[in-house]
Amino acid sequence: MSDWAERARRRPARAVTVRAPGKINLSLRCGALGDDGYHPLATTFQAVSLFEEVTATEGAGITIEVSGPQAELVPTGEDNVAARAVRALAEHIGVDPDVTLHLRKGVPVAGGMAGGSADAAATLVACDALWEAGLAREELAELAAELGSDVPFALVGHTAVGAGRGHLLSPVMTRGTFHWVLAMRSEGLPTPAVYAKFDELTPDAAIDPDADVDLMLALRQADPVALGAALHNDLQAAALALRPELGETIEVARDAGALGAIVSGSGPTVAVLARSAQHALVLSATLRALGGADEVRTVRGPVQGAVVLTP
Ligand code: ATP
Repeated sequence: MSDWAERARRRPARAVTVRAPGKINLSLRCGALGDDGYHPLATTFQAVSLFEEVTATEGAGITIEVSGPQAELVPTGEDNVAARAVRALAEHIGVDPDVTLHLRKGVPVAGGMAGGSADAAATLVACDALWEAGLAREELAELAAELGSDVPFALVGHTAVGAGRGHLLSPVMTRGTFHWVLAMRSEGLPTPAVYAKFDELTPDAAIDPDADVDLMLALRQADPVALGAALHNDLQAAALALRPELGETIEVARDAGALGAIVSGSGPTVAVLARSAQHALVLSATLRALGGADEVRTVRGPVQGAVVLTP
């Protein structure tokens, strides 16, 4: 055996771990279904401190392992969006898609917080590092957009406006940190069902491009009271029609003094805005007692996008 082969044989298997955040939609404005089969969106994402972690190691073919409280709900085959991310990157750089991925789920599954998209973004970054491809973030973002409309945002994180299907991103200037309480449900809400209900309720929906001026100002001024008043979700009525108990969670949060409370994305997670970290703890105690949620977490935002944790 040559020296090189011997060294390669003895080298410990490389592992790259990448962390990517879940998101909430501070504003989600949705137009009527277009001829291309998509709903036009104008949304403001904020990445929050609830994370997915993906560890990529060398493997033969694609193997996906999942851990975390809702691991059994996540497919481990070709239909896992992380597997699609592996194939897209491997094809792009011309290598075999040989990798074992371990997904540690911290974001609720089918919770409207884009946990799968965070996995896809983390996988792109992890495999890029594992295979030493050295792609620019812009190139990864192009691959990300092919995988799903929330994947590019999980790469960049912080706060951004998404147009098109939500995938055309512009960063938003924000100051300070906002404190949120997330009221989560173990039974997810399938995004297509929410859009179908939205179509039924509002077939002529149109987006007002100037509607989020107050939201942008609140973010620039680090003003949680103004942010609370500017939160908006066009999908909320559809989500509440499918899951009326979410409306009760929102009411409990408002009665308890939340600055704002909305369904995040397509739900069923409810995002509740607090004045401060301490206020978030008080609200979370009330929501635990009366809010009907299966899990309640306090988080902060904005946080950064996908980041390598191991060299
Ligand atoms: P979206 O609004 O993008 O659908 P979401 O947060 O509501 O996001 P996800 O948890 O991302 O929902 O996934 C929705 C569905 O996609 C799951 O119910 C599951 O069947 C499938 N899925 C595929 N890959 C994954 C993954 N890596 N993690 C979680 N779910 C996945």
